[in-house]
Amino acid sequence: MNTLRKLCSVALFPAMVFGITGACIWVLESGRRDLFQTIHLTTISAGFVALFGLERLFAHRREWNEGRDRDFWTDLLHNVFGAISFPTRLAIRVAILTATVAWLASAVGTTGVWPSTWPLVTRAALLVLLGEFFYYWAHRLAHEVEPLWRLHATHHSPTRLYWFNADRFHPFDLLVLGAARAIPAVALSADVDAIAIQSLLVSVCGKLQHVNVELALRPWNGLFATADWHRWHHSTIQTHCNYGNTLIVWDRIFRSAYRPTDGSGPENVGLADMPAFPTGFVGQLLSPFLWRRLERLSAQTTTAARAAQTGTP
Ligand SMILES: [Zn+2]
Ligand SMILES: [Zn+2]
Repeated sequence: MNTLRKLCSVALFPAMVFGITGACIWVLESGRRDLFQTIHLTTISAGFVALFGLERLFAHRREWNEGRDRDFWTDLLHNVFGAISFPTRLAIRVAILTATVAWLASAVGTTGVWPSTWPLVTRAALLVLLGEFFYYWAHRLAHEVEPLWRLHATHHSPTRLYWFNADRFHPFDLLVLGAARAIPAVALSADVDAIAIQSLLVSVCGKLQHVNVELALRPWNGLFATADWHRWHHSTIQTHCNYGNTLIVWDRIFRSAYRPTDGSGPENVGLADMPAFPTGFVGQLLSPFLWRRLERLSAQTTTAARAAQTGTP
């Protein structure tokens, strides 16, 4: 079992990141694009089923396998709603960005600089790097600008991390973050294959950031925004760090990368100062519009808890 645990901790990250994207790039580059959907769905489904099993076998934190506050059902509804609303979000995103790019092009002239003759792996890598830059700043602003934080708080509400809450996002937050990531693809007229690989990598890395499996990530921490970084992003004491979804390079450049040198993870994750934040799906959808009330209730809850601790009435 120990050998299996070690093998899983070393192999899971590269197998999923390079295995899934590599298989899809190979299918597209070898002219078998008719197989793309099959390979894409098969590999990604197998990967996610594996994550579910591995969390039970080789948990990073055993207590994070316990469902709390019916959070599995909340995450299931976020996943289902996110999938159903995807075409609408995509249409809004593309319409806004295309109109903006058309306006810019008429003002400064068209660019036409997308390197369409490069191999797919380098086109996708370029798109990931540029997309991450815009995602980095949108995510950072979501933590630093209050109206955006009201939307983003839903993603930080879980008190445990596991692969299935990687997609716990308020739909308006998804719209903003997704639009930011799509800016280079629309502005440079990137090809659909590169966009498909970028989306795939974003999805796989998102799940691996949250997965509750013990992983040996040292070789990958220099480039990727792994779980070692992202758990600190969800920490109750250190959330203003590690904004990358796929890459950690922009955090390093803009000095927001944080991880203790001893490699330890955070004690607790979640919204420490918002105990009244809703735990259910509908409450979370409404939370940005009930923010002041939630703040007031949270302050009352915190005061009552302190009073109970100190014995003051
Ligand atoms: Zn965040
Ligand atoms: Zn997260």
